[in-house]
Amino acid sequence: MMKVAGNSEDKKLKKYGVNELRRMFLEFFESKGHLAMKSFSLVPHNDNSLLLINSGMAPLKPYFTGQEIPPRRRVTTCQKCIRTGDIENIGKTARHGTFFEMLGNFSFGDYFKTEAIHWSWEFLTEVVGLDPNRLYPSVYLDDDEAFDIWNKQIGVPAERIFRFGKEDNFWEHGAGPCGPCSEIYYDRGEKYGCGKPGCTVGCDCDRYMEVWNNVFTQFENDGHGNYTELKQKNIDTGMGLERLAVIVQDVDPCSV
Ligand SMILES: [Zn+2]
Repeated sequence: MMKVAGNSEDKKLKKYGVNELRRMFLEFFESKGHLAMKSFSLVPHNDNSLLLINSGMAPLKPYFTGQEIPPRRRVTTCQKCIRTGDIENIGKTARHGTFFEMLGNFSFGDYFKTEAIHWSWEFLTEVVGLDPNRLYPSVYLDDDEAFDIWNKQIGVPAERIFRFGKEDNFWEHGAGPCGPCSEIYYDRGEKYGCGKPGCTVGCDCDRYMEVWNNVFTQFENDGHGNYTELKQKNIDTGMGLERLAVIVQDVDPCSV
């Protein structure tokens, strides 16, 4: 069950640097049976759909589609990325960098939602030491399975779990594998907020920062909006290394 922080306000969060956080993440997932692979090149290989690598999963696409056999069914990486799809956010928020590194754990037809959610919580609260009372998960509107894992297994109260629609919590890029996702937000505190009434998880300001996205790849989109259930269900997660550093160091991104 959820560990209530108690007097955690008094407990100082250790200010890990990006090199420590990267190592902690990869070692954590190695301890869960993952193969740690090096970052792929920023220039995609054999992929005409992308100019630059923009996510941890992008260079692993052949493993998700079954085109290639992965070296192991559990893989973890810290992938160099260039922001492409939402490039217009750069310079407007404190959380969108041009270049960033994305931490990820991947399951190619191996574990699914239960393990992915439990491990993300374990890493953030027990390994990194984030205050559970500042963390808020979100799930896709009708993904009761993910909601129940957060609520009944992890113990996050229902009112702290947000349900968002397709724009936020359904991951897809045209044709191909896609599915609902579950994001984890961290409340950085009022000083980073916009101060507007109704500022909460999902607000565009920098108070509630999305740190990790767990994508449950369970459908195949044929490119015409027809979804079929994948035989092989996958996990694809992405956590911004620099965002995590900003949170643990409680600083503005330019000083990480
Ligand atoms: Zn706000």
